[in-house]
Amino acid sequence: MTMELQRAAWGGALKLSTGEVTTVKNTRRVVELMSLVGDAPKGAFPEERAELKRLIVEDLKALKERTPAILPEQIANQIAAAEIIARPAAVVKELLENSLDAGARMITIEIESGGAALIAVADDGSGMTSANAILSLRRHATSKIRTVADLSAIRTFGFRGEALPAIASVSHLRMQTRRAGDEHGTEIAAEGGNVGDARPCEMAAGTRIEVRQLFFNAPAQRRFLKTAATEQGAIIETLQRIALGNHQVAFRLIADRRAIFDWPRANSVLERFGQAIGLKSWSRLLAFDADSSGIRAQGLAATNEESFATERMIFTFVNGRPVRDRMLTLAIEQAYQTLIPRGRHPATVLFVDMPPEDVDVNVHPTKNEIRFCNSGGVFDVVYHAIRDRLASENPSSDIEPNQTPPARRRQRRKLPSNVIEFRAWRPKKRNRAQGGDGPKAAS
Ligand code: ADP
Ligand code: MG
Repeated sequence: MTMELQRAAWGGALKLSTGEVTTVKNTRRVVELMSLVGDAPKGAFPEERAELKRLIVEDLKALKERTPAILPEQIANQIAAAEIIARPAAVVKELLENSLDAGARMITIEIESGGAALIAVADDGSGMTSANAILSLRRHATSKIRTVADLSAIRTFGFRGEALPAIASVSHLRMQTRRAGDEHGTEIAAEGGNVGDARPCEMAAGTRIEVRQLFFNAPAQRRFLKTAATEQGAIIETLQRIALGNHQVAFRLIADRRAIFDWPRANSVLERFGQAIGLKSWSRLLAFDADSSGIRAQGLAATNEESFATERMIFTFVNGRPVRDRMLTLAIEQAYQTLIPRGRHPATVLFVDMPPEDVDVNVHPTKNEIRFCNSGGVFDVVYHAIRDRLASENPSSDIEPNQTPPARRRQRRKLPSNVIEFRAWRPKKRNRAQGGDGPKAAS
């Protein structure tokens, strides 16, 4: 039990293995004891172990007798933080989503030590009034929904109003923001969730949010941080996904004061793909685009010359939101069946667009997962859009257009008439220092 408790204990709250959350009077001491005893060999620190056990038993007893109470906002924020921002890449994702929701055209991301020391996201979006900037650090403050009805027709990335207060509760956060028409900007600092006063500041229109010392007051979460290189890799992956879904926005990444990449605004997903992914061995990406009963599936499918050991080259978006969804991946993989070796995975960028009320995006706090009302219908549109396009490209291969998917026996669809042909495409020369399939370095 001790280990489990140790992982879940942070800040002022203790999450018990029963799922209950309590604010033990002596949290600080418990956390202190846990970090001492946790990794030590059995038998070490006998007195501390005994004290820890006593404190926890006492707390469990108190918990049983306790009547329910509303958690203080600060603790609620830290609990949300554990769910929403498991690692620096998740902070980057939340900040980027806010910038995109604010209509940014150019976003600069700065990190140090894989994001553990610093994550700063600066945008040229709408900015906030002073009052809204203060409000944005309060839990459940969002400008994106107002009513329950709004929840079923979400068109923004954010809507839960949790990210900023959650991030602020486990870091040193500084927000600077100014609307284009305002005389001054507003600057607010928060330390471990304690929000300071707002002050005027001079800045260009937009918003800059700086997050330092992530998890400084959350020892359990800090322990789960991997090496700076690994965390930076996860941040780059997050950026690639988001940048693919927003090709009209420019992205720049600076890591440890070095420019890592600079992706100017692109005219197409294909162009962005060249900037952000740019695999050298790909000779062609085929554009596919098909729709049926209000569901549209479009994107890029690599010809069958190359396949990958993992699914990391499959990028899926639903109504612009990067998502991970088994059904979508399966539809893509099945469209490639017999074209690439078994157990290998294709490279595909898929955008599904459909009425927002037919998809539930409020399934998980990180909003990476979704639920479809009619997943069979979506499967069919995606499968055929890609299969038919690949078939038209490989007339001599053993697949035929309009083949029925192996997993589903459903109505056949016509070959889309609006397929676009791309010229043979070669990615630009890639920077050697980056190696692997990473993004290109800025020159
Ligand atoms: P959500 O995105 O779910 O609304 P957040 O906690 O991420 O919740 O943000 C709270 C609010 O702060 C947003 O609804 C938005 O009004 C404002 N906000 C946050 N980041 C920015 C930004 N970069 N530019 C403009 N407004 C922002
Ligand atoms: Mg948000």
